[in-house]
Amino acid sequence: MPVAAVLAGGIVGAVVATTFMGSSNEPPEVKIAAQAPQIAEKTPEQDQVQLEEKQTNVAVAAYAQPQAPTVEELTKTVSVGKGDTLMKVLTRAGADRSESHQAIAALTEVFDPRDLKIGQDVTLQFSTDDADLTKDSVVPSLMSVSLNEAVDRQLAAIRTPGAGFTAQETVLELDKSLVRAGGVIQNSLFLTAAQAGIPTKTIIDLIRIFSYDVDFQREIQPGDSFEVYFERFSDDTGRILKDGAIHWATMTLSGKEISVYRFKTADDGFTDYYDAKGRSVKKTLMRTPIDGARLTSGFGKRKHPTLGYTKMHRGVDFGARSGTPIMAAGNGVVEVAGRNGGYGNYVRIRHNGSYKTAYAHMKKFAKGVRKGSRVKQGQIIGYVGTTGRSTGPHLHYEVHRGGKQINPLSVKLPAGRKLGGKMLTAFREHSKKLNTEVANTALETQLASSD
Ligand SMILES: [Zn+2]
Repeated sequence: MPVAAVLAGGIVGAVVATTFMGSSNEPPEVKIAAQAPQIAEKTPEQDQVQLEEKQTNVAVAAYAQPQAPTVEELTKTVSVGKGDTLMKVLTRAGADRSESHQAIAALTEVFDPRDLKIGQDVTLQFSTDDADLTKDSVVPSLMSVSLNEAVDRQLAAIRTPGAGFTAQETVLELDKSLVRAGGVIQNSLFLTAAQAGIPTKTIIDLIRIFSYDVDFQREIQPGDSFEVYFERFSDDTGRILKDGAIHWATMTLSGKEISVYRFKTADDGFTDYYDAKGRSVKKTLMRTPIDGARLTSGFGKRKHPTLGYTKMHRGVDFGARSGTPIMAAGNGVVEVAGRNGGYGNYVRIRHNGSYKTAYAHMKKFAKGVRKGSRVKQGQIIGYVGTTGRSTGPHLHYEVHRGGKQINPLSVKLPAGRKLGGKMLTAFREHSKKLNTEVANTALETQLASSD
């Protein structure tokens, strides 16, 4: 069996259920549930519950039959919680301190313990093989520690009897395939795509790609449709492990079709999305720097919701749940990031000589967003909140041109790169090939889920 299949099937998890090397004739029927390595995230609370359950099982295995001790191998999987170090995780799982120390020392050859993530699973294997079986309580010794750094990269410290722990790195070879999926939009693109089984990451990428051209608050009508052609990676058992880049996508809005192609320009090495004519879909600024929000108040005169008098509203408001990520509408430098009176937590970005954008009432700023920091278009800069003079969670968004606020929804945005010459010729060849590829791939309206 190839290594990839062994790891994918979870050999560490299977050992407990199948190996029971009893020394007596009638081994006691004590079994530990097999625990395959998991990728799914867990909350620390869930982890705590799991841990307690497993500890109970271990106690049964170790102490239930002191009269007939047997050699056992047991596996425990523990999720990393907030504030955990590898040492804390291992000792919480019942590993001896000095054994844990040796295992961690070996593991650091292939893994930086600072890369440990909350929710990450760590699998420990124990054995009573070399323990003193004449004693009532048998303390199993640590045999291996393994964790998945990525879905396709497993790292482990494995004990060789008499030689301590050695590091091991296993890279799974993933099969790449391209999937064509799509549907007719019912209520929102997000919901329809999610119902079709399209992974969340792909939907967000899709919205980002089209957000320069499509105003998702106003332009989507029931009956509009979309298609997306993207990468999926699976192991050799066919299990989907991750999703990759979108190669092509199309949206049909009120009968009008917009298609985009992923293309790398050889002259500068940048990969971007272009329309059929070779124009970059990227505009200097995005119209809507937030996903899944609804426009609650437009630009212009209105009666102020909290103060009652008529006032000029110099931005647009997007209602969204508290904590919804807010993106930088364009590349630029953060000019202000801090408390700003009625605006609450406020960020202003300078994009170029004439354009700036501002974002108000944030719950908090994203990591690293402070005065002077450089941000990229689409980068998360903060989260929706209701700080300052605000009646509920929403984003107040402003576009400034030449120092004056203008309507973000009607502003004519300067376009991005337009391919010409050799680059356009190469793009035409590429897009023609992609069109044929897509046409030869069956459209799926219900995908098998990967998350
Ligand atoms: Zn506002």
